[in-house]
Amino acid sequence: MRAAIIAVGTELLFGQTTDTNSTYISAGLQTLGVDVMHRHAVGDNPTRLRRMLEIAYQDCDLVITTGGLGPTQDDLTKEVVTEFLGDRLALHEESLEEIEGFFRRMGRTMAENNRKQALLPSRGTAFPNAQGTAPGFALESSGRTAICLPGPPREMTAMFELYVKPYLRGRGSGAMCYRVLRAFNIGESDLETALLDLIEGQTDPTIATYAKEGECSLRIASKRATEAEARAAADAMAAAVMERLGARVFSADDEDLHTVAGKELIARGVTISCAESCTGGLFAARLTETPGISQVFGRGFVTYSNESKTQELGVPEEIIRRHGAVSEETAVAMAEGLAARTGSRMAVAVTGIAGPDGGTPEKPVGLAYICCLFDGKRLCKRIQGRDAGRRWNRNYATLHMFYMVWRMLRGDDAAPKSP
Ligand code: AMP
Ligand code: MG
Repeated sequence: MRAAIIAVGTELLFGQTTDTNSTYISAGLQTLGVDVMHRHAVGDNPTRLRRMLEIAYQDCDLVITTGGLGPTQDDLTKEVVTEFLGDRLALHEESLEEIEGFFRRMGRTMAENNRKQALLPSRGTAFPNAQGTAPGFALESSGRTAICLPGPPREMTAMFELYVKPYLRGRGSGAMCYRVLRAFNIGESDLETALLDLIEGQTDPTIATYAKEGECSLRIASKRATEAEARAAADAMAAAVMERLGARVFSADDEDLHTVAGKELIARGVTISCAESCTGGLFAARLTETPGISQVFGRGFVTYSNESKTQELGVPEEIIRRHGAVSEETAVAMAEGLAARTGSRMAVAVTGIAGPDGGTPEKPVGLAYICCLFDGKRLCKRIQGRDAGRRWNRNYATLHMFYMVWRMLRGDDAAPKSP
């Protein structure tokens, strides 16, 4: 089965709303073995929606729309799709009762235009809306299937899981399984080079690389007759890739670096504290995203000024004066002061220049020093973010901190290779 997705809503074209629904639907269809051929976004305009449907059905037998099922004048998807597939709208009693029930539960009276939402194609299959009022539906006509879903993401996802998946199950060809590996400290082109023979001539599983900020994702996808076969093929390829890339792969399950590091700290019961300058608390904020981190995370300092580095962490003024606040010496003194004050087994500190100002030829914007102490071992790293802005530099330094934490936990003391 080949599918196209059409997101309907003028707000999508204005850039006011990000089309997250199409992404969700794409991912869901993949798991069902339905191939997504293309996606479109179109405004609340019947003529252009009709044209999109014509294009979509040229090489697809399934079109899924999202949006435009509301009660107001500009919500036209249902009307256009129904007419396009040669059906007419009729009052769907069950849906009307559900809509009335929804308003009763909310203690509100139903507006007259909400009745419009109970109109569905006469030959269609209704999908109740567990989270709102507008029902969705599926409609089939001479080998063409349309599935129309509401726009609000909460309503759309619930309907997709509860009704669309069961409706489509068994119609896709085979089953798809994919794994996402995440690697750090390797560029996309280096990654591809390392895996060239695996990537070249690939048919199944397929490998695709995606560059993210400071890291790389690798998607390994297999489509086979059964899910078990697809999974086995994807797993075998994942193992081959991980052997090539070693410790640069930090997750084989599409987990964030901070999640992987946080879980590892908890699993090993290693207490940690942090002192941050240029990242301003980003490390602590991400660390605390992991549930249960309170077992190991006692405190984090944001020591932005020179005085705070001295007062809070005991960094000697002399070190800052002689080497500068952004220096390996300061990072080491921060980490040592931190360890002494907190007694935590792991102490990680960062100091750097986030930009856009403050850089010099010797110390350009994006430069940061990270020092991590763990059970008497010390690892320091100088990193150089590129000229991609303050947000990017802060994120990059934070990622390096987590990578260093993770590597030290694994007993991998070799300084990570600079990118
Ligand atoms: P509608 O069903 O067209 O009335 O959409 C209602 C609301 O759902 C819109 O105002 C958006 O906030 C949201 N929405 C609609 N389409 C999408 C989409 N493709 N992705 C994410 N949100 C959407
Ligand atoms: Mg709309």
